[in-house]
Amino acid sequence: MAMTSKTALEDAKKVFPGGVNSPVRAFKSVGGDPLFIGRAFGAKVYDIDGNEYIDYVGSWGPMILGHADSDVVDAVCNTAKNGMSFGAPTEAETELARLIQQAFPGMAKMRFVSSGTEATMSAIRLARGYTNRPLIVKCEGAYHGHADSLLVSAGSGVATLGIPGCPGIPEDVARNTLTIGFNDADALEACFKAHPGKIACFIVEPVCGNMGVVLPEPGYLEKVKELCSAAGAILIFDEVMSGFRACFGGASRYFGVEPDLTCLGKIVGGGMPLAVYGGRAEIMSSIAPDGPVYQAGTLSGNPVAVASGIATLKKIKNDADFYDRLDQTSGLLYDGLEKIAAEAGIKTVANRFGSMMTMFFASEPVKRFADAGKSDTKLFARWFRLMLSRKIYLAPSQFEAAFVSIAHTSEDVEKTLVAARQSFAEL
Ligand SMILES: *Cc1c(COP(=O)(O)O)cnc(C)c1O
Repeated sequence: MAMTSKTALEDAKKVFPGGVNSPVRAFKSVGGDPLFIGRAFGAKVYDIDGNEYIDYVGSWGPMILGHADSDVVDAVCNTAKNGMSFGAPTEAETELARLIQQAFPGMAKMRFVSSGTEATMSAIRLARGYTNRPLIVKCEGAYHGHADSLLVSAGSGVATLGIPGCPGIPEDVARNTLTIGFNDADALEACFKAHPGKIACFIVEPVCGNMGVVLPEPGYLEKVKELCSAAGAILIFDEVMSGFRACFGGASRYFGVEPDLTCLGKIVGGGMPLAVYGGRAEIMSSIAPDGPVYQAGTLSGNPVAVASGIATLKKIKNDADFYDRLDQTSGLLYDGLEKIAAEAGIKTVANRFGSMMTMFFASEPVKRFADAGKSDTKLFARWFRLMLSRKIYLAPSQFEAAFVSIAHTSEDVEKTLVAARQSFAEL
């Protein structure tokens, strides 16, 4: 008998916790079983049960060109034919670094790693090593990957599953992470006052994506930069999600605020495991072998992943109106959803940064995690399932973003809005 998503999940549960290799994939907060995906092209994913969906998950961010883009696939296949990994430097790594610098001019020096988790974890070690200070500050509901010191009050799956504090993280480690609300510069100032000379860095998603999308209020990023600089602390922008989402650059370019260090992931690998951290040359020179802060990786700068990254960034860069088109499609979806929700009399708040957006089932503006947390997650879960039944594939959590790719057409959006109108009517 042919496998279905249901039987495939039973099988997978025998070997993987929850049957998955990353928790939010399990659909736990929305109910029902996850779809097993067979293939994906452009804006569509196909499950093994024979259904076609319009995809707004986009592998949780990387697939800005849509799935199986032929240029990226060719680059990956051609590169793989010459060897999958050497553990030695290649010229292509420098080429990708130069492309990234065009988008992030503040990344004078950088290091390639294999996941966003590694990028933020390494950036924090660097900040501590460079400043010789123990404490770090992060925002409630921000997700910077699953390193011990960053899982404190984390977003994404931690928020979705309502995990209060993660077992396995020693008190001694958690104590060195201070958490404050996003968009609250006064709270950061208070941290610096309370712990003079002890705070190594403030790590922040300049546009939050992992409590759902939350934008910085005007002046917030400028203010945190000023405060960090006055306190001698490193400002780290985690742009793993926001990088390349609204322009050929990140929130740093979009809002004109330059951090000391930047973390990138997702889009830079074009669907392959690749992430980056980098920034001011003086700070980066503390990284081994130039300096004493150790960080390494067997598959770092992997040739196949680098080829995928180069092909992806080149395609974006060489397309003069890429972000105009992406913004148009994204705006069509965003405006449409707001209008339809209002017509249906359902209270929602939608936040958007370029091609990433979240519609919160909330009635007050969402400016930080405490606001996002007031969303009606039960209502979201029902809406999610109604949308899925109409073949619209959204992230299975209120606290995640929907991603629009360049492969999404206005017809895709129209179909999505029809499904949304019907789903709202059924709520
Ligand atoms: C996805 C994400 C990470 C973690 O990246 P992984 O590749 O999943 O380890 C870190 N920070 C932000 C802002 C992210 O969105």
